Amino acid sequence: MKVPSFITGTVVLTATVLFLCQGHPHKHNPNLQTLQEVVMLLTNPGFEGRKAGSRHDSTLAVSIANKMAGYGFTPYFDDGPLHKFSYRNVTSWNVVMIYKGKATNGTVLLGAHYDHLGMGGPGSGSLRPDTSAIHPGADDNASGVAAAMETARLLTEAGKQHGLQKDILFAAFGAEEEGTVGSAFLADTLEKAGLLPSLMINLDMVGRLRDSVLQVSGTGTFDGADSLLRTRLDSTMPLVLKTSASGYGPSDHSTFYRAEVPVLFFTTGPHTDYHTPFDTPDKINYDGLAQIVRYATSVAAAVAVEGFEPVYQETYDEQPMPEKVTFKASLGVIPDFIYEGTGFCVGTVIKGRPGHKAGMQDGDIVVQINDRPITTIEEYMEALGELTAGEIVWVTVRRKNRLLELEVQL
Ligand SMILES: [Zn+2]
Repeated sequence: MKVPSFITGTVVLTATVLFLCQGHPHKHNPNLQTLQEVVMLLTNPGFEGRKAGSRHDSTLAVSIANKMAGYGFTPYFDDGPLHKFSYRNVTSWNVVMIYKGKATNGTVLLGAHYDHLGMGGPGSGSLRPDTSAIHPGADDNASGVAAAMETARLLTEAGKQHGLQKDILFAAFGAEEEGTVGSAFLADTLEKAGLLPSLMINLDMVGRLRDSVLQVSGTGTFDGADSLLRTRLDSTMPLVLKTSASGYGPSDHSTFYRAEVPVLFFTTGPHTDYHTPFDTPDKINYDGLAQIVRYATSVAAAVAVEGFEPVYQETYDEQPMPEKVTFKASLGVIPDFIYEGTGFCVGTVIKGRPGHKAGMQDGDIVVQINDRPITTIEEYMEALGELTAGEIVWVTVRRKNRLLELEVQL
């Protein structure tokens, strides 16, 4: 149920004024050297581009976990900081750790994916699929991991000074490049346990700050987001915010928004080196990265330290930001990556998009497009890749035990 916006609007305004009166009591000073070290660690050629499922995943995940342990974070799950998941015969890990305050209620999640495209090649997501070379992914997403770790550390500092209202949950996701698989697994696990966070902040590609422009999406996913974001800016972080309401987008926050979690997605956006071997650490804007960390810390502190409570609301979908190169034709649905049966399982149908207009529903299994049988997600993607936007196609879906044929205009 949605709370009438007039009422929550008033509450938020009061809360915002309170924040301002406190004059930002926390000193959030990111450590530039630490940011650089983490970027250098992830882009180390020895990791060969951090392809999900490669032998490097666990080594890297352990390194991240050790560093977080040094900041006072402990494993969130009983079996240690590395939370294992498998999909399509691949095994990878999320690093999931928590910093607990006293008498806290709920969590704020800081997340960033640590995987990238490996050596590239056909089907890898590389935009130079004909060259085999290390894809360092310094911006995508060593920058986000460095930022999430440093933001988490600064929040523990703020917590020591002022006390925490919420625990700080940290997650470095595996297999984002394979379709946000790691974050989908964590969101699903937390949802089933009734332990979803109060707010999820996703940092993906935050290393190329240009003209001080920081893109933030998810402002429609909880009431008061816009004023919260505005009031947390100050002279130590002269950022120009470009905001969008949507909770969906080509990164890990989507999987939490889908589970009705308020989300914020921070990114400095795509560039010509995106998904190529040229996304290298020397091109990272470390001062910009530090500004973003300071800002993310301040925004997260509003919730984790000062007690602002984001209340989830559904937002309308805007065009997702073009981080991922998408297929020309689209049904406008988000896959269910946990599904292991035959066919392509629709996790979420996005309102107003072709699938929704044709009557598709969450949980539908796509088994055929035109005359082409669909048994896997790869076959689904292949089939879509050969279609063009505007075209009319027949999509056969299995819903409960019935087969339905839907006419979809792409
Ligand atoms: Zn990427």
